[in-house]
Formats: sequence, structure tokens, C-alpha cells
Amino acid sequence: MFTHYKNTVQEGDLVELAGPRHKSDIFILIRGETLQTHRGIIKHDDLIGKPWGSQVISHLGKPFILFRPSLNSLILNTKRNTQILYPKDIGFIQVTMGIGPGINIIEAGTGSGGLTQALAFAVGKNGHVYTYEIRPEMHKLAKDNLSLIKLGDRVTFKLKDIRNGFDEKNVDAVFLDLPNPYDYIAQVREALKLGGAFGAILPTVNQVIKLLIELNRNSFSFIEVCEILLRYFKPEATRLRPTDRMVAHTGYLIFAKSIELIDNK
Ligand code: SAH
Repeated sequence: MFTHYKNTVQEGDLVELAGPRHKSDIFILIRGETLQTHRGIIKHDDLIGKPWGSQVISHLGKPFILFRPSLNSLILNTKRNTQILYPKDIGFIQVTMGIGPGINIIEAGTGSGGLTQALAFAVGKNGHVYTYEIRPEMHKLAKDNLSLIKLGDRVTFKLKDIRNGFDEKNVDAVFLDLPNPYDYIAQVREALKLGGAFGAILPTVNQVIKLLIELNRNSFSFIEVCEILLRYFKPEATRLRPTDRMVAHTGYLIFAKSIELIDNK
């Protein structure tokens, strides 16, 4: 995905059709199909062959713009049954944990696969994502979401409780997005290589405190706790100011490194 696109829209491409106020539909172009929106019907055939950035008009005369989907829109448009991670948190997780081409990372739980999509994108062709989930319906939904964006081959989906540990050893990074990460820190330590990066997101300070206690007990080091606040502005040149509302809280991010244990006594 993203790299295989030609200059004009092709059958089989994943496209984003954006209306006003950033509302958009993301779908695969199939000859003969139609897209029904509350602003009218669009025929897939009318999109094939158009340059990216073109304007297309629905049968009700309403305009849409044709884009290659951004990772941001893909994540926000993920079909979901769980709360997914927000792009603002995902971006910082990726840079802090060094998730780039060739990295092997374990993630739990998979949930709807919001984070999985971004991780699979970041690790490239030579990296891999191992994702664990206990609920069969989430396991399936995430698999479907990843194959939709053609990144499923970079991900191994496991229907397993991480309480019993991870199958992989020596991975570069482990990220936990589940309610009780503090119960699995010994398992994380077993799977991470020395110097490897641990990360987690938690909605309440109470949970963060429990996690800090366990990270210290398991000799994790370089521990950081933060939160990311993202404030949008109304992009009007004559009265530039923040929007009235913002997403004020998603979760606290906790990062740590697994290091060699030296007995100093
Ligand atoms: N980060 C995901 C959302 C994760 S929601 C996203 O962006 O889409 C948390 C998930 O963790 C839930 O689906 C839940 O079923 C799963 N989970 C909870 N405890 C677990 C465990 N012990 N092992 C594996 N998965 C678990």
C-alpha cells in the first residue's frame, strides 16, 4: 500500500473520498460498484482513471475529493469494536520506541487493529508485528482490517492470553494496550532483547502507579511517563484561534528499557 499507487486511480486501489469537514469514506475501487453516502451516490467506474486530488460529484451534485488514504485517516476510519489508539499517541509511541524498518515488535491486545496498522506500516517489508488478542471476534476484525490495507503479511495474529507469556524471544519492542499491563511485566522481560523498548498506554493514574511499581520490581530502567495533548486551530487567516473543543484525555504513555542486571552488592 501507499507505495504501489500510480498517478491516476486504478481498479483495486484503496481510495479515500473526502467530503467537507474532513468526513471521508475509505474503500477499495471495484468496477461496477457504487458508494452510497448521505451526500449522494458515487459510481466506482467514474473514479477509475482520474488523477489523485480530482473533484468528483455525486448524483445529488455534492462534491468530493479523491485522495490516497493517509495513515491518519486509515486509523480514524478503522472498523472498530474497541477504543482504538489515537494518531497523536501512535506517532509519539513510534518515535520514542524506535519503530522503523526491520523492527520486530510484539503488541497486545490487538483490539480492532488501529495500532497494528500503524506498526505494520512502520516496520516495513523486513520487520514484523506479533499481535496477541484473547477475544476471537477482535482477532478476526483486526485481521480483516489489516488485509483491507494490504499489510496483513507483515503481521502474525495470535489468539492467545499473554498471561501465559509470548512465543517470541529477543524482540526489539513490546507495546501493551490492555487494562492490566502490570500483571505481565515478567512475561515482557522474557520476550524483550536487552536494551529493548517497552511501552504501554493507560487511561488512569491509578493504573500508571501500579505499572511503575512492577517496572521497578522487574528492573526496567529509563522509565518515562507522559501524555500528549493535541490542540487544533481553526485555519482562518483573519481570526486564527484554537477550535472550541479538543480531545482532552486519551491515556498516559509509559516507556521503559529492558537493561542488563548487574549485582552491585
Ligand atoms: N490498541 C488497540 C486497542 C486495544 S483494546 C487498537 O488501537 O485498536 C484492548 C484489547 O486487549 C481488547 O481487545 C482485549 O480483548 C485485549 N486483551 C485484554 N487482556 C488480554 C490478554 N491478557 N491477552 C491478550 N489480549 C488481551
